[in-house]
Amino acid sequence: MLPIADLGADELDALRNRVLRDYEAFRAKGLKIDMTRGKPSPEQLDLANGMLVLPGNGDHYSEAGEDARNYGGLQGLAETRALFSPMMGASADRIVVGDNSSLAMMHDCLLWAMVKGVPGEMEPWSQQSGSPAFICPVPGYDRHFAICEEYGIRMLPVPLTGHGPDMDMVEELVADPDVKGMWCVPKYSNPSGETYSTETIERLAAMRTGAPDFRLFWDNAYAVHHLTTERHEIANIIELCAQAGHPDRAFVFASTSKITLAGAGLALFASSAANVKWYLARAGKRTIGPDKLNQLRHVRFLKSMEGLARHMDAHRALIAPKFDSVIEALETRLGGTGVARWTKPDGGYFICVDAMHGTARDVVELAREAGVVLTPAGATSPYGRDPNDSTLRLAPTFPSQEEVRLASEGIALCILLAAVDKLIAQREGGV
Ligand code: PMP
Repeated sequence: MLPIADLGADELDALRNRVLRDYEAFRAKGLKIDMTRGKPSPEQLDLANGMLVLPGNGDHYSEAGEDARNYGGLQGLAETRALFSPMMGASADRIVVGDNSSLAMMHDCLLWAMVKGVPGEMEPWSQQSGSPAFICPVPGYDRHFAICEEYGIRMLPVPLTGHGPDMDMVEELVADPDVKGMWCVPKYSNPSGETYSTETIERLAAMRTGAPDFRLFWDNAYAVHHLTTERHEIANIIELCAQAGHPDRAFVFASTSKITLAGAGLALFASSAANVKWYLARAGKRTIGPDKLNQLRHVRFLKSMEGLARHMDAHRALIAPKFDSVIEALETRLGGTGVARWTKPDGGYFICVDAMHGTARDVVELAREAGVVLTPAGATSPYGRDPNDSTLRLAPTFPSQEEVRLASEGIALCILLAAVDKLIAQREGGV
């Protein structure tokens, strides 16, 4: 199709009539499909059904002889930490295994930094003279932004480039001592799908920060969540920070929420010895110990990194075709129109669409009226404000293959219809 901007008034009207007719036909199907959140589908969860009977009757001792049914073991079982050591890029003694949510660990770290301060005998962030701020690569994860909002941390948006955040901007911003941290989803980012380049990671590790107590919140939520046969690896942030003379800079997080069971996985934290000690001192005040039966269950089920990788291949077989379906619909309906660009991620849980500026909210509304619920427009920006009103986050994992196919058709129509309407309005307004 021709770029819609090249169409004359009559051609544009004709296109609008065709797209509107198709949209009405789509709406008439009366669908009810939820594409809002990156949730695993029931079939993906079924892959871990073998876990439900583990560790099994009588199997509740760790290798060190701890009774996993009892209290204690704050840092997590040694065999569980060893299992995830390659994924976390840290030795087992630098890992803490939490309960089922890495988001909760991030929340705790941020709150503890605010009220207790981080290692290095620093004042708590909330008691220092300035007002603490975080750098937020955009588009980003709305729940990260929500934690900042909850505790009054100012958010400083920085654009992503396709290989990580704009580092010139980041280096400029971190010179301010009020900038205490930065959210990073370094692999298959939510939602842009991009993976930080080695150069980006080296610069993040080495950059001079105004705040001596600055922390990277390194949320490697999609560390092993590949959508192609290529298993992309990223540079080791903990090692690079140490080499650059900033051994305590990175708080690394991950979880098995999208490996095993989203509501009953294991959360993981990895960092320097000082940060791990700090974390455990705080954590020891809020819990007597984590769910170690779940830790044993994971060790028995996944067994090794190879076992984990095979398990992730089974996820890929289920979800990669759903991503293909979305991309095919977007290409078929929107290819050449110039109204949108979209990502073709090699991993993660999202496809990100950059729609015509000023139309994302309209697209979400049109889709809602046609029975397809999308992540609210703006959710991928701090404070829910997308200055271009153009970013859409599509989450194709949860609905069935057929639902994804149908929904993608509809979403593509909504994107086109909103763009055509916008262009007509602009021309009528003489813009
Ligand atoms: N971080 C990112 C970037 C995510 O996309 C998600 C899940 N959508 C989470 C964290 C949540 O992780 P958890 O289930 O371990 O709390």
